[in-house]
Amino acid sequence: RCGLVALAGRPNVGKSTLLNALIGFRLSIVSPRPQTTRHRILGIATSEAGQILYVDTPGLHRGAKRAMNRSLNRAARSAISEVDLAVQVIEANRWTDEDQALYEALVEQKVPRLLAINKVDLSKDKSTLLPFVADLMEHRSFDDVYYVSALKEKGLKDLEQGILKRL
Ligand code: GDP
Ligand code: MG
Repeated sequence: RCGLVALAGRPNVGKSTLLNALIGFRLSIVSPRPQTTRHRILGIATSEAGQILYVDTPGLHRGAKRAMNRSLNRAARSAISEVDLAVQVIEANRWTDEDQALYEALVEQKVPRLLAINKVDLSKDKSTLLPFVADLMEHRSFDDVYYVSALKEKGLKDLEQGILKRL
């Protein structure tokens, strides 16, 4: 199994921390050079189960604002549509307009998507997290939902397995 995976999310949700944790915990090579024309490879996680190329996707990392303004250009759109999978990263207990705009861009481009709810270490009380997620999922669709803490390195193996399963 092998594929291009975008970690997408608005600023500050923890994408960089998550990427480092996902790569670090695999102790794999981080490729410094671009290997596809449209995507910059941020890191490669290799295991017996396969290889995940985490890529930067123009338009997605810059965010959501662009999508919200419907000014996501054609190059950005086709770059998004070429990833095998997007992991939309959000913060626990928080779904903003930017998160929504990004979600809509992924839906529009028909990118298979997983939801990674990050910073779960901050929500001491799980009884707020579950209703938050239930509410979120009532009107939105993801192929799966993962609870992670990039900082505390929790839930990363499950997330990685979920990614690999879909490549
Ligand atoms: P990015 O802008 O999406 O790349 O977010 P960063 O990776 O730069 O993280 C933004 C901030 O959130 C930093 O201060 C991180 O230390 C913090 N952060 C990231 N992941 C977690 C987490 O799982 N738990 C907590 N408590 N903080 C986190
Ligand atoms: Mg970052």
